Amino acid sequence: MARSKIKTSSGTGAVTAGRRVTLNPKVARRSFLKLSAATAALTGVAMTTKMTSKAHAAGKTEPYAGSKTVRTICTYCAVGCGIEAEVHNGVWVRQEVASDHPVSYGAHCCKGAGAIDMVTSPKRLKHPMKKVNGKWTTITWDQAMNEIGDKLLKIRENDGPDALHFNGSAKVSTEMAYQHRKFAAFWGTNNVDHQARI
Ligand code: SF4
Repeated sequence: MARSKIKTSSGTGAVTAGRRVTLNPKVARRSFLKLSAATAALTGVAMTTKMTSKAHAAGKTEPYAGSKTVRTICTYCAVGCGIEAEVHNGVWVRQEVASDHPVSYGAHCCKGAGAIDMVTSPKRLKHPMKKVNGKWTTITWDQAMNEIGDKLLKIRENDGPDALHFNGSAKVSTEMAYQHRKFAAFWGTNNVDHQARI
């Protein structure tokens, strides 16, 4: 595939040989990445901070005293299966399939069955990680932004915006998917898709 070279004079107003990169020139060099990451982080924080702090549902079968059941929908795809979420003191502590829901009819796929894990699993990634000498190491958000930003810009300088493919995940919410798509558009490429289609 023919790839157009780009040149950056200040790092903010990228002009290709033959086409203009769609990154807003008013956005500072790494601010764009920071803005996108901050949006994703805030989405995650909004979903996790209060909801996860006291989630200890494992092994408990009877409802928590004073808990309530909230009917909602799974966010992992456009099917929209029903979830009955048990909420205790503002914390999402357990989920059941909404058996009478007209879409799910008593079943979830494997993604939906583990929807609560997105906010309660101890295996969730909470910090940027970098593999150093073969070992995964926690790094700061600033280091992650700077290193990833530099590498991304280098790729675009060398090979153009279409050298990158933005691959979505089945485990992001609708809002995250929207933001992922926007990121690719501002970057200047249509190379964006979902992993389930590949
Ligand atoms: S349970 Fe599965 S099929 Fe249903 S909405 Fe969630 S991801 Fe989609």
